[in-house]
Amino acid sequence: MIPFFDLKKQYISIQSEIDSATRRVYASGWFILGPETEAFENEFAQYLGAQYAVGVNSGTDALHLAIRALGIGKGDEVITVPNTAVATVSAIEMAGATPVLCDVRPDSMTMDADSFASVITDKTRAVIPVHLFGQAAELDPIIGIARQYKLAVIEDCAQAHGAKYQGQKVSTFGDIAAFSFYPTKNLGAFGDGGAVVTNDARLADKVKLLRQYGWRTRYESEISGMNTRLDELQAAILRVKLKHLDAWNAARRERAAMYTELLPNKRVAPPIEMPYGEHVYHLYVVQCHEARGASREYLAAFLKEREIGTAVQYPTPIHLQPAYQHLAPAGSLPLAEKLAREILSLPLYPELALTDVQTVAEAVREFEL
Ligand SMILES: *Cc1c(COP(=O)(O)O)cnc(C)c1O
Repeated sequence: MIPFFDLKKQYISIQSEIDSATRRVYASGWFILGPETEAFENEFAQYLGAQYAVGVNSGTDALHLAIRALGIGKGDEVITVPNTAVATVSAIEMAGATPVLCDVRPDSMTMDADSFASVITDKTRAVIPVHLFGQAAELDPIIGIARQYKLAVIEDCAQAHGAKYQGQKVSTFGDIAAFSFYPTKNLGAFGDGGAVVTNDARLADKVKLLRQYGWRTRYESEISGMNTRLDELQAAILRVKLKHLDAWNAARRERAAMYTELLPNKRVAPPIEMPYGEHVYHLYVVQCHEARGASREYLAAFLKEREIGTAVQYPTPIHLQPAYQHLAPAGSLPLAEKLAREILSLPLYPELALTDVQTVAEAVREFEL
């Protein structure tokens, strides 16, 4: 049996390091925002080549606080894509702003710059490109348009820890960025966690205030804020895992390259790695071309019969989900809608055996016959 993912294998591979880090926290008697969080924030910022990282409770809150720190709220529009975690859109709403959706490119499956430009209005204040599945969005044209219209750029890096665009890690191309440390992400905690990353001291300061009741000094709220803090246990675990991130990303890339080489690429097409960046394969997503007669559901069922786990990220574009049908009518974002019907994620994680990659690829080849 080849499961879609297996987090236990990763823990076992670094168990002694994790256990000593967590014991250090238990013994310290200090559990929320403290030396581990501060050390992790510094190490993570350094890893990314960024000035500041601020730990928060989740990727959703990282996006939410990034938007609020920019002073964006009621009456403002923020543009993003429909093929993302619903978190991207709910964060815009949590900040009080209005989400606006644009379509994606057929190759990278990330934001289409022309479609983005076409939905800008005089209320637009920011754009959130999502670095989807571990691959950077095509930032140059998106940022070029954003600068022209004086829009803030918020990078959603929740699936792209360590991914590169033109040789540089994503998160510092825009004004501010958000990361998630949800357990299945490339850098995952043992619970919820997230971080806001920026080179702007003023924005980093604002996020720090917002994450804890607007406090600069304890019990005195300078601005109105909330409680969305990273805890010491998660920070200690993330510090251990950060040291392995590059090796894990390399292992993901190796497995992805193997899939891409072995997959038949007829009706079922491997993901396209854009030449402008370095993909870190948070997910390995194939496309079952309906026009060539492939069916995503048949492929998923075919693999399931062979005890191979698959998943769909994401089966329903945001604007076709019950809560968000007011954002755009069905049929208005055709590329994202087509992709949602055609994509299938195959098992891919650093600990996946290379023989399992072969087994999965062979099963897909058999499906193609
Ligand atoms: C996971 C994810 C988020 C949300 O992160 P949480 O930590 O689960 O709140 C946001 N955006 C994208 C693209 C994600 O994949």
